[in-house]
Amino acid sequence: MVIVMLPGAEPDDVDAVVDRVEGAGGQAFVSRGLSRVIIGLIGDVELFESLNLSGMPGVGQVTRVSTEYKLVSREQHPDRSVVHVRGVPIGPGTVTLIAGPCAVETPEQTLAAARMAQASGATMLRGGAFKPRTSPYAFQGLGELGLRILADVREETGLPVVTEVVSAHDVDMVAEYADMLQIGTRNMQNFALLQAIGEARVPVMLKRGMNSTIQEWLMAAEYIAQRGNLEIVLCERGIRTFETATRNTLDVSAVPVVQRLSHLPVIVDPSHSGGSRDLVIPLSRAGIVAGADGIIVDVHPEPEAALCDGPQALVREDLDQLALSVAELTAFMRRQPARRRYSSAS
Ligand code: PEP
Ligand code: MN
Repeated sequence: MVIVMLPGAEPDDVDAVVDRVEGAGGQAFVSRGLSRVIIGLIGDVELFESLNLSGMPGVGQVTRVSTEYKLVSREQHPDRSVVHVRGVPIGPGTVTLIAGPCAVETPEQTLAAARMAQASGATMLRGGAFKPRTSPYAFQGLGELGLRILADVREETGLPVVTEVVSAHDVDMVAEYADMLQIGTRNMQNFALLQAIGEARVPVMLKRGMNSTIQEWLMAAEYIAQRGNLEIVLCERGIRTFETATRNTLDVSAVPVVQRLSHLPVIVDPSHSGGSRDLVIPLSRAGIVAGADGIIVDVHPEPEAALCDGPQALVREDLDQLALSVAELTAFMRRQPARRRYSSAS
C-alpha cells in the first residue's frame, strides 16, 4: 500500500501516519521527493484498510499496489516523473542528450570531450572517475582526482555531471562533486550501494544489470526509493544474450515496457550496449523512437588513445551526425531538446 501525502502536509502529519501504521504492527518507509512525501507500507493490507488512514490530516491518496515494487510503480503514480539534474529535465516531453568520455583521464581530455559534447547540443556531461573494470589490470579510474577534474570542467562549461559510484562508502564523497550518481550495470544489485544512494539527496541514474530482468531492475530502483530518494532515472544499456556480434544486446522493448510499469524516466546507452562506434547512431535512433527520455553516449577527442572503451567513443564528426539525428527524431516524437531551465545548485 502507498500513501501520497498532500503537498502542504506537515511533518507531524507524516509522523502520525507512521505511528498509526507501526502501532498496528506494520512497517512504513517515508520517501521525500522534491514536491511530495510518499509513504510505502509493508504488512497486512486488510489491517491497514481498517486504520482509516485516508481520513488522517495531510493524507492525499491511499492506493493498494499489486506489484512488488510500489514507490516506483506507475500504478500508484500514473503520471510519468521528470527528474531535474541541476535544472536539466529528464523525462516525458524532452529528450536529454548526455555525452562525455567513458573515463576521466586528464583535465585536457575531459575538457575537450565536454566541449565536443556541448557543441553538439548535449546538456549533461558523463565521465567515470571510478571505473569498474572486468580486468584488475585495466585502468581503474583516477578516483577523487577525477571527480575534481569533472567539477572543474562543470565550472568551465556549466554542464551538470553524472559519474559512477562503485562503493557504498564513497557515496557521500562522490555526491559532493557530482550532480547525478550513476550505478553501473555490475552494481545494479549491490544492495548496500543502492541503500546508501537511497539516503543521498542527489539524483541517480540506475543502469540495468546486464543479466537482469526488468522486474529485478525495478526492484533495485525500489531499494533506492524506499530509502527516500525518488530522483531516479533508469538506463537501458544492453543485456547479455547468445549474440556475440555486439558487446551486449540493446533491449529496445525495455523502454516502453518500463514506461508502462514505472513512472521513472528511462534513457538508453547505445555506446555500452553496442560496444562499437558505428552502432551508436542507429541504436540511439532506435531508443528515441521507442520513447526513451534521453541518450547517454561516450565521446573522446582521441579515441585511439583512450584508456577505456575507445572503440565505441564518438569523434566530433560522429557526434555532429548523432546530434542531427537526435534533433530530428526529438521533433518527430513531438518532444523538445532538454535545455537547462534554471540555474539553482540542486
Ligand atoms: C559506464 O557508463 O561507464 C559504464 C561502465 O557502463 P555500464 O555499467 O553500463 O557497463
Ligand atoms: Mn565505458
